[in-house]
Amino acid sequence: MENKSKTKTACVRTEFHPDRRQITVLIDTAVNQLQFSYAPYSHFNVGAALLTADGRIFTGCNIENAAYSPSCCAERTAFFKAVSEGVRDFLAICIVGGKDGIPTGYAAPCGVCRQVMMEFCNPDTFRIILATGRDDYRIFTLKELMPQSFGPLNLQ
Ligand SMILES: [Zn+2]
Repeated sequence: MENKSKTKTACVRTEFHPDRRQITVLIDTAVNQLQFSYAPYSHFNVGAALLTADGRIFTGCNIENAAYSPSCCAERTAFFKAVSEGVRDFLAICIVGGKDGIPTGYAAPCGVCRQVMMEFCNPDTFRIILATGRDDYRIFTLKELMPQSFGPLNLQ
């Protein structure tokens, strides 16, 4: 049996441009996650929808903690759910968030989450969709949000 644990992420995908239907599904899914957000301290609710290469969507929400540092962002929740089920090939993530669950501006991923994305995604092609709703979104590559980054390739 192959030991997958040491297999690095493929990062072979050359291009991915989500179509309007995919974008709408990802935004709707991320918005739907807001109801599960556990944010009694910041009251800043975040939802995420992570699209895999085989078309599945893993969801996430932020999960805060009274001791603060054990808190986890929506993006990492989605990534860790996927990776823990053997999925390591990702195309895009949509993130929505806002105070009291109302997205009034883009909720960009924190530096820690960007670093986690660097571990499993091709920075040139992985798309990060920041949205407040179906008709208000912007799409970035990971490289645009994480220039001069450090990732698995630096250790080869
Ligand atoms: Zn984060």
